[in-house]
Amino acid sequence: MIKVGIPRALLYYQYYPMWKTFFEELGAEVVVSSPTTQTMLSSGSSRVVADTCLPVKIFLGHVLSLVEKCDYIFIPAIRSVKRKAYSCSKFLGLPDMTKAVIPESPPILDIEIDINKGKHRLYQAIYGLGRHFTWNPFRVRRASLAAWQAHRKYRELMSGQGLTPPQAIARMTGEVELKTSTSTQATIALIGHPYMLYDEHISHCLIHRLEQAHNKVLTPEMLTTEELESATARLVGKAHWTYEDEVVGAGGHYLETGADGVIGLMTFGCGPDSQMMDMVRRRAARLRVTTFMSLTLDEHTTEGGVVTRLEAFLDMINRRKRRQVEVCV
Ligand code: SF4
Repeated sequence: MIKVGIPRALLYYQYYPMWKTFFEELGAEVVVSSPTTQTMLSSGSSRVVADTCLPVKIFLGHVLSLVEKCDYIFIPAIRSVKRKAYSCSKFLGLPDMTKAVIPESPPILDIEIDINKGKHRLYQAIYGLGRHFTWNPFRVRRASLAAWQAHRKYRELMSGQGLTPPQAIARMTGEVELKTSTSTQATIALIGHPYMLYDEHISHCLIHRLEQAHNKVLTPEMLTTEELESATARLVGKAHWTYEDEVVGAGGHYLETGADGVIGLMTFGCGPDSQMMDMVRRRAARLRVTTFMSLTLDEHTTEGGVVTRLEAFLDMINRRKRRQVEVCV
């Protein structure tokens, strides 16, 4: 059976159930890299220049960990999944960059997704990908439809039932699901890209820490596409980046709907995120929301630094909530 490797990084949290279903329907076995470790980060970092962003270094580390474990590695070049909104340049060149810096990588299954080029080009790209497994176009079509159904179910589990991507993936694949904390000291919304929020090595287990401190955690994936898009439209008019809703839309929505605190996660040296997070920061200032904090992470960020900022932030929120209760009494 052909083995297809999928790195547990970058767009994994957005599309894994869809990709897994597609390849399995075509008779392949899917191999996913393990959760991020310091060794993966170091190996990925050693292949690129220092100012490459942290998520890309980690992605390359995941690819290296899959070498010799699979026959192909799936690395799509996702240029655009929305009209006139484009991905950051790292996503556009990901397959080429990987080929250049990891020559020992298994052959890369490289598909270009750009809906601005029309449906015909998209279907051609999908059939081209399927041809590595079968020459039967009907089988590829069936696999694509099943993959799309899986994606819709995945989105529904997150936006309809309030699961995070790792929880929804666990539910769909029958793995042990991480439980959500039921205590609600405060409601804290996290905004940012899934590869920042759900990679525990990058985020220093931020979600777990917030839940351990008895907070309810909200994330961008728990909102519907309509909620995200309308909040983005209120904040910036029109999205220019493919994944702008995860930052601007989620930030705008949670600031307006009164989460007790909003934390934005971004990585050092990321051009798109620095602009998007600034929009959210300005919105917070206009709404006079003082409980907004942005955390900029890189490979030198220490756990102690994150914990100190988090404790100070939660302390501020809890004191504010206590004051509100005293005023009401
Ligand atoms: S959006 Fe920023 S963090 Fe994400 S891949 Fe691009 S440069 Fe890196």
